Amino acid sequence: MDRDKNFRALVLDHVDGKLRAEIKSLKIGDLPEGDVVIRVSYSSLNYKDGLAVTGRGKIVRSYPMIPGIDLAGVVESSNSPKFQPGDPVILTGWEIGEKYWGGYSQYARAKADWLVPLPRSMELKHAMSIGTAGLTAMLCVMALEEHGFPTEREVVVTGAGGGVGSIAVAILSKLGYKVVASTGRKDLHSYLKDLGAHDIIDREMLSQDGRPLETQRWGAAVDTVGGKTLAGLLRSLSYRGTVAACGLAGGSDFCTSVFPFILRGVKLVGVESVVCPVETRIQAWDRLSHLLSGDILDRITEVHPLSEVPRLSEEILKGRVRGRIVIDVN
Ligand code: NDP
Repeated sequence: MDRDKNFRALVLDHVDGKLRAEIKSLKIGDLPEGDVVIRVSYSSLNYKDGLAVTGRGKIVRSYPMIPGIDLAGVVESSNSPKFQPGDPVILTGWEIGEKYWGGYSQYARAKADWLVPLPRSMELKHAMSIGTAGLTAMLCVMALEEHGFPTEREVVVTGAGGGVGSIAVAILSKLGYKVVASTGRKDLHSYLKDLGAHDIIDREMLSQDGRPLETQRWGAAVDTVGGKTLAGLLRSLSYRGTVAACGLAGGSDFCTSVFPFILRGVKLVGVESVVCPVETRIQAWDRLSHLLSGDILDRITEVHPLSEVPRLSEEILKGRVRGRIVIDVN
């Protein structure tokens, strides 16, 4: 591959002591080590990207950095027998956009071991409608299945209007569960019902202080919010219910008692998507390709150009993004 070939990328760097995000022209030879070069078609915007691009979270380990924790594209050249030029691939997590250059770029170089082949029936754009957010939603559902819960009861999804939440609502409803979507945005009620929510609950109802144990309501929960919301969920889980906790949109600390655990046998399961083993990812992407139609993914997605990433990063941190944002890097 021609090391002098130019391409565009969004580069984060400190200029005069201030963090700046600028679209720059780079050369293939500038890309870091790795055995596969990918021509990127799309990236996406996750909450973590918002933190990285605005500098509001300690996400980026070194500068200059190309942010973007997700990408989907086509293999341009490969030194690995696992991938051939022309193969469509997905790359999410593995600290790209944090420690290694990420997806807001027309080209990327990565380790073959990080890549997942695009499922046969999926388009590259739809892979990024899913992205880290959708993979995390699937991993949460797989964690609930693995640990078990009273499946006849309602399953609540918090932060339902966001990326992880929207996809969790769609998947759980497709799997036949009675899904209750928790949101702070009244204008999203019909959007969430369209995704399959059977009922909506105001997010304030879940984060109020309460008794050590509340009336048993939820069979299970997918929690993207953390903080007081997670404490509230634990208090109102049914006997042997499970919560899959993956996020902190509402806070990282929470205060609970042992009562839900020792009197109701509830389970609190942590979910992470960054260094999740590749075999689990392949299984999750295969399930996602069967559970989410192109039509539903189009309904939850807006596509924006690279130049919009700084503005949209502010929006996602304010909780104003609905569903998923795909970034067209070309
Ligand atoms: P989004 O910003 O798309 O969604 C977050 C949603 O949380 C918002 O849409 C909003 O939903 C709700 N929310 C925001 N602020 C508050 C608040 N102060 N109190 C209560 N609810 C709030 O983010 P993502 O879906 O991309 O990510 C969700 C969370 O999951 C983040 O914390 C992220 O870091 C984490 N995450 C973790 C991963 C892992 O590997 N463990 C992977 C991916 C994400 P609404 O308006 O509907 O109330």
